[in-house]
Amino acid sequence: MAGITFRELRQGLVHMFYPLLCEGCRRQLVANETVLCAGCETELALTHYHTMPANETELRFSGRFPFERATSYAWFTEDGLLQHLLHGLKYRDRSEIGTWLGAQFGTALAAANWQQGIDAIVPVPLHPSKEAQRGYNQSEVIARAMAGAMGIPVWADALMRTRATESQTSKTRTERAANVADAFAPGKPYPLTGKHVLVVDDVLTTGATTEACALVLLGMADVKISIATIGIAV
Ligand SMILES: [Zn+2]
Repeated sequence: MAGITFRELRQGLVHMFYPLLCEGCRRQLVANETVLCAGCETELALTHYHTMPANETELRFSGRFPFERATSYAWFTEDGLLQHLLHGLKYRDRSEIGTWLGAQFGTALAAANWQQGIDAIVPVPLHPSKEAQRGYNQSEVIARAMAGAMGIPVWADALMRTRATESQTSKTRTERAANVADAFAPGKPYPLTGKHVLVVDDVLTTGATTEACALVLLGMADVKISIATIGIAV
């Protein structure tokens, strides 16, 4: 039983009695399919940014703070398939969606050796009250699956969220920045000095949240920052 959480055990039992359905089209999944059927998987609008320098993810952070490289897995559009998946991950207790997305992304990055030189992954933290309510931090679930595919550790508590911020969804760029400013602080001590860390978040919109995290890390030690998000909003 080592390594199996109660959540995974419970989900395994549920799946014994209820067949897994595709999150895209609700058809029954077959062997080796866990979240999307093969047909729906091709509908995710992958960016392939990890093979493109000066991609849109990098441009969104350009000039705001020093970073090495940045990428996103797929386009996030209103009512699109990725929005549906991330909604399930955040609000319908479907942590396996984050595990699947993280593994897909991490495998693609590892195939291009994108992670070369990166020492650890730091997921954007949730406030403890929200993490307790949700049962997990969705960015940490994604980060752990990415880390498994890329063979690098996760430093999950290197940052902590000190304020339970309001949802960013309906805010303007300026409001988003103000909402997350000072929302993060150093967490548990990790040997950050001289290291290259990958900040992982679920969706990139204006980048205010990622920037706030990066600024705290840059203020803690002499670190290099790279960034990876599952979604990039149009
Ligand atoms: Zn499907």
